Amino acid sequence: MDIRLGNGFDVHALDDGDHVILCGVKIPFCKGLRGHSDADVGMHAITDALFGALSEGDIGQWFPPSDPQWKGAASEIFLRKAIERVAARGFQIGNLDCTLICEMPKIGPHAKAMQDMLADITGVDVGRISVKATTSEHLGFTGRGEGIAAIATAAIFAP
Ligand code: MG
Repeated sequence: MDIRLGNGFDVHALDDGDHVILCGVKIPFCKGLRGHSDADVGMHAITDALFGALSEGDIGQWFPPSDPQWKGAASEIFLRKAIERVAARGFQIGNLDCTLICEMPKIGPHAKAMQDMLADITGVDVGRISVKATTSEHLGFTGRGEGIAAIATAAIFAP
């Protein structure tokens, strides 16, 4: 069996706004995430983990931020491309694990909805998808609430 792992990391700045979109779930918040697309930092990290597992570059190469067609785009488009590539290469997803790093908003109450959303998009059993969160103990840019970071790991296998 050909088993591969990939990691992904992403950051988006918090700015004026009234909601954030994390792992496809809209969460009302006193700020918004700044980005060319919908700035879904969690979904971007997962997408990059899948591209990494395939050794097929990164999200910025597939969807250049300089390309106006991705302005305000739903990040689901990016994730679906990575899923399409996994299938095209003969792989299946073993599991996905994403950690969101922020003080606020609180992720816990939304984690299940995020896992359900990712299961829906990827077609992977929700029991193989993890979304969790940590703070950075008020240290650094995430601790000061200047932005949200996300890391993700993806395991893929070809039977
Ligand atoms: Mg991003």
